[in-house]
Amino acid sequence: MILVVLDHDGNKLRKASLEALTRARKLAETFGEGVAGVLLAEGQAPVEEARGYVETLYVAELGPYTAEKWAAGILEAAKAGVKAIVAPSSRQSRTYMGRVAYALRAGLLEDTLESWAEGGEVYATRYAYLNRVTQKVKSAPPVVLTVKPNTTPLAEPLGQPGEVVALNVPPVPTVEVLERLQEEKKGVSLTEADIVVTGGRGMGGPEAFRLVEELAALLGGAVGATRAVVDAGWRPYSEQVGQTGKTVQPSLYIALGVSGAVQHLAGMNKSKYIVAVNKDPEAPIFKHADYGIVGDVHQVLPALIQAVKKL
Ligand code: FAD
Repeated sequence: MILVVLDHDGNKLRKASLEALTRARKLAETFGEGVAGVLLAEGQAPVEEARGYVETLYVAELGPYTAEKWAAGILEAAKAGVKAIVAPSSRQSRTYMGRVAYALRAGLLEDTLESWAEGGEVYATRYAYLNRVTQKVKSAPPVVLTVKPNTTPLAEPLGQPGEVVALNVPPVPTVEVLERLQEEKKGVSLTEADIVVTGGRGMGGPEAFRLVEELAALLGGAVGATRAVVDAGWRPYSEQVGQTGKTVQPSLYIALGVSGAVQHLAGMNKSKYIVAVNKDPEAPIFKHADYGIVGDVHQVLPALIQAVKKL
């Protein structure tokens, strides 16, 4: 069996789970195995949606998230025997997949860009050495593998809903969650957004990002930033797009005052349409843009906002 950890927001599967499913199906096909899902929840979970993607769906309600409980839930689902366990790469999966790999004495292939099975082993590529190189790695099954978001096509539902099996997860010694202060979420998440508006150093300073935010909000998109901007403290790291930041694959990527360094391109060059605004006609970003505007962002961006408001 290939087991997929299906991450969700309580109502819907996250896009990254559909990517993990695509990877799991590819491994399952080569190994001649079935695909099962495990849906762990604190309260509500999208059971009906999730069972549409797998032959068997293991579900458990585990209360507030802790890595120990989530690992126990996955290990319980894996008892039927697994060749691989696949999960979306996230802050959370980083905390529970290591535990799962240790418990199974399995190889841990994390944050993978691609993965496939060959000669009975699982191969993957991932960034290494502070993202300076791309490594090809392999491990014999069982393998615990995480999928870097926005690297893989999304899975389609199967024709028929899978069987739902309630898991009986044994209590485990765990950190107890005493209180949780939730950060107020603004807009759509960067990795899931269909439109991303990114500002680079050419924006000139943190104040100018108010206009980047305005355009993103008008388009129902998310704000991104280059590393130069994050390093300067203008925007938080959570908004960084690129090799050492997030990988995004929106339908529309608007790059404002971004030069188009290879490390930035690594995180956004799979976007469907790229629009770039830069005052330098020789800026490398124009080689990758579908539409380019040579001009000063401080003039072009307000004009763009006005134009969008008129739509
Ligand atoms: P710059 O390269 O300084 O470009 C600014 C651009 O704005 C220029 O093209 C300029 O012509 C234009 N401009 C200036 N003023 C205006 C104006 N008024 N109107 C219009 N255009 C204007 N970078 C990332 O983004 N993400 C990463 O994840 C990342 N990871 C890295 C990892 C490593 C190991 C290394 C070594 C580097 C990494 N970098 C990353 C950094 C990357 O190499 C670049 O330095 C960075 O992307 C540059 O950001 P920028 O385009 O905002 O700034």
